[in-house]
Amino acid sequence: MLMTYALAVIGIGFVAGYLYLKKMFKAGSPLFAVGYMVYSKTSLGSYYHQKNIKAAKEKHPDGHSVVEAQEFQDYKIQPIPLVADNYAYLIIEKSSNTGILVDPSDAATVQVYVDEANVTISAILTTHKHWDHSGGNTELKKVHQDARVYGNSNDGVPGITHHVNDKDEFKIGNLQFTALFTPGHTVGHTAFVLEGSPKCVFTGDLLFVGGCGRMFEGTAPIMLSSINKIADLPGDTIIWPGHEYAKDNLDFAQHIDPNNEDVKSKLAWVKEKRKDSHMTIPSTVAEEKTYNPFLRTDSDAIMEAVGIKTKEGEDQMAARSRAFAELRACKDKYNYVL
Ligand SMILES: [Zn+2]
Repeated sequence: MLMTYALAVIGIGFVAGYLYLKKMFKAGSPLFAVGYMVYSKTSLGSYYHQKNIKAAKEKHPDGHSVVEAQEFQDYKIQPIPLVADNYAYLIIEKSSNTGILVDPSDAATVQVYVDEANVTISAILTTHKHWDHSGGNTELKKVHQDARVYGNSNDGVPGITHHVNDKDEFKIGNLQFTALFTPGHTVGHTAFVLEGSPKCVFTGDLLFVGGCGRMFEGTAPIMLSSINKIADLPGDTIIWPGHEYAKDNLDFAQHIDPNNEDVKSKLAWVKEKRKDSHMTIPSTVAEEKTYNPFLRTDSDAIMEAVGIKTKEGEDQMAARSRAFAELRACKDKYNYVL
């Protein structure tokens, strides 16, 4: 009898402890903040990333998605599926066979694509410090010693050789790039625009198909102004994001904006693609503006959905920032992706 009682107390203790820890580790909680700091600022984060790479390779030996390269007149973009749902990119300038890597966080997998393309890597562009974007820099730099590593120094990107600020322009081979300082997800998050025809933008964890990144190190006004830098690019600019999150994002878009026909048709298309794990990237700026709620905080539908009304005399951007904050909070509760 006493034994049964003791076991029941231990059982209840375990459940209560588990629920307490789960709550404590929730985004925004003090323990989450500590965990995030350890992940982003210490080598324990790198160790965790390597474990994630290993686990993802066991689950999907050929990568999480079936990818296809896109050919343009002067360059080719090869998406590389990494870790559980990340995308790195290999940009190849055709005339000089120069290779540029974007967020190559798994050096071994990326190297297979580099060898296959038989290109010389001249640069690594790093959107932000998180290990699932920057975790391959040091290893790749050992192999491609002349490669320049671009990023924003506020983020402490590993192996950085070239610090970039907002609107900095630089050339790699014959390709022209512009850095856009886009903080919010991290303090130094940077998107890279390839000034080709058409333009391409590598958005890291700022903007995804149908969604945006979490605001780990910034407020809603900061994140919104970063996202507006992408919205201000020409409509035919091609968006290459850092994750395969379209399905989760558009599920949420449908929940928040149920009468939007563009959301419905994009979600149906994404579901079809994901049935056999095909990539849902890229998209364009004009396309995203039709279904991505985070680019539509100026629409009545989104303002109403999050219950925000412009106050008398309130600046439009201030009202949009409040709507953005509410929208991001709703998304965090609806389905949690980083
Ligand atoms: Zn990130």
